[in-house]
Amino acid sequence: MLENKCYRILVVEDSLLNQQIIREILQDTYRVEKAITAEEALEKVRSFQPHLILLDILLPDANGFDVLTTLKKDEKSRNIPVIIITGLDSEEDEEKGFLLGAVDYIKKPYKNAIVRARVNTQIHIIRQMHTIERLGLIDVLTGAFNRRAFDNQIHYEWVRSIRERREISMIMLDIDYFKRYNDTYGHSQGDVMLRSGVKALVSAMGSTDFVFRYGGDEFAVLLPGDGLRAALATAESLRASVEKTEVPCHRTHSVTKITVSLGISTVRPKAPEQLPDFIEQADRMLYRAKRGGRNQVQF
Ligand code: GH3
Ligand code: MG
Repeated sequence: MLENKCYRILVVEDSLLNQQIIREILQDTYRVEKAITAEEALEKVRSFQPHLILLDILLPDANGFDVLTTLKKDEKSRNIPVIIITGLDSEEDEEKGFLLGAVDYIKKPYKNAIVRARVNTQIHIIRQMHTIERLGLIDVLTGAFNRRAFDNQIHYEWVRSIRERREISMIMLDIDYFKRYNDTYGHSQGDVMLRSGVKALVSAMGSTDFVFRYGGDEFAVLLPGDGLRAALATAESLRASVEKTEVPCHRTHSVTKITVSLGISTVRPKAPEQLPDFIEQADRMLYRAKRGGRNQVQF
């Protein structure tokens, strides 16, 4: 894992006094670099490759919101978290910052301890992401958690559900007629469909936390603490979210609709040995949904 000093923070701020203050707050812990103008900021993002950016909105040559928009458009800088630090204190500005993709918004005048705490929080998240990547728990193609992560997580949740005498549900789902799509449009366009599918699942769940690529075009969603009624509602919102998705194919200038079939399993587990049964039950329900005509939920 990286030591804190290896984390790079770019401070975009035209007031030299504020520059100085922020550097003093952070430079004992992190590597800090500064940019005074928007142009310099974009150049430093390329050359310094910061892990985190603190961005002022009123810059001499441009508006910080525009800088943020530019950063979010570029594949290379899209994932760098940006904290806005600004003297603008209207709620509209704050909302705009979040809508454009900032992770946090700090108003001037600020307390040093607050800036330090909020920066530390972001670095903590980045550190955890690095750990997850290092452990190989992410499916590189789709960005969802992989099968290995699923095996770890379901084991953990299963034991916890037994201990707390709580229900647990899972949804197993599989893309309909994916082979046909692969055969028609090619494997790499098939990959585009897989990514679109995951995006739809994550957007319905509101987070990537419990979405796993189980294998091929099959996915699992874990719902610890949920009974059948809640699981059904989630499954239906997953189904609907995927059904709304259109997968673009740039080569043929066409869009394709996509659907999934889903199976639910719910139980209040009593013993560790019941776990394989629980997973198989979700799989059986998934195949019933396939036989029943696809694009549907079975439980
Ligand atoms: P069904 O509705 O019954 O699910 O039909 P299907 O055509 O989707 O059948 P199935 O789920 O068995 O097909 C899975 C296909 O997914 C077969 C395999 O070639 C393809 N596949 C597995 N992994 C990948 C991948 O990473 N990328 C692409 N493009 N295709 C993959
Ligand atoms: Mg399939």
